[in-house]
Amino acid sequence: MAGILFIISAPSGSGKSTLVNELRSNVKDLQFSVSYTTRQPRGSEQEGLAYHFVSREQFEAMIAADDLLEYAEVFGNYYGTGRGPLKEAFAQGKDMLLDIDVQGAAQVRHKMPEAVSIFVMPPTPEILERRLRNRSRAEGKVDEEVIARRLAKAKHEIENYHSYKYVLVNDELNRAVEDLTAIVKAERYHREGRAEPGKASDGVQRVLHLAEAC
Ligand code: 5GP
Repeated sequence: MAGILFIISAPSGSGKSTLVNELRSNVKDLQFSVSYTTRQPRGSEQEGLAYHFVSREQFEAMIAADDLLEYAEVFGNYYGTGRGPLKEAFAQGKDMLLDIDVQGAAQVRHKMPEAVSIFVMPPTPEILERRLRNRSRAEGKVDEEVIARRLAKAKHEIENYHSYKYVLVNDELNRAVEDLTAIVKAERYHREGRAEPGKASDGVQRVLHLAEAC
């Protein structure tokens, strides 16, 4: 059965990382695409886990070789999704999750309109700003210009929420995780309902069997 491509976007400060980690521990068989980036590793980030850290030259060579499904420049650094892992996951019928910004999401939706896109809203503008300040503090200094730039980008991203298939507000972590998990499960059921009988899961085979027998 064909894999589903899930795209999740959220302005930084919306609590997306925690949400994505919780989703990954709730849902089986969801591969996470490790993006390429030219930014420096932050804190304890390790090569190949959060990102593949590459130089600008390496990234530009990947663009030239058409190795990226999408890419964007965010605050002076490149970020992009490799085609290889996605092809591999789909060849194995696995679903994949991309955590990318709104520019990248628009490129993927254009190339793959069947992708399932999800936008995560921060609970309030105040919480968004507070989280951005905390992140700045954790990075070692509170730079008002950087905070203002990140807030402006967040505002621009939020204005694009209607391009996504689903929108959820991350005001209460447990509920947001439940909603996100429900979206993934519902999309999987929907796909299975449309699968050719021979390729459907055991659950769907059973339904087909019952439909015939009743
Ligand atoms: P950060 O540097 O905080 O990890 O990420 C900055 C922004 O880049 C986030 O909005 C994140 O979703 C986005 N991002 C991460 N990986 C990719 C990618 O492969 N492509 C695109 N377009 N954006 C990405």
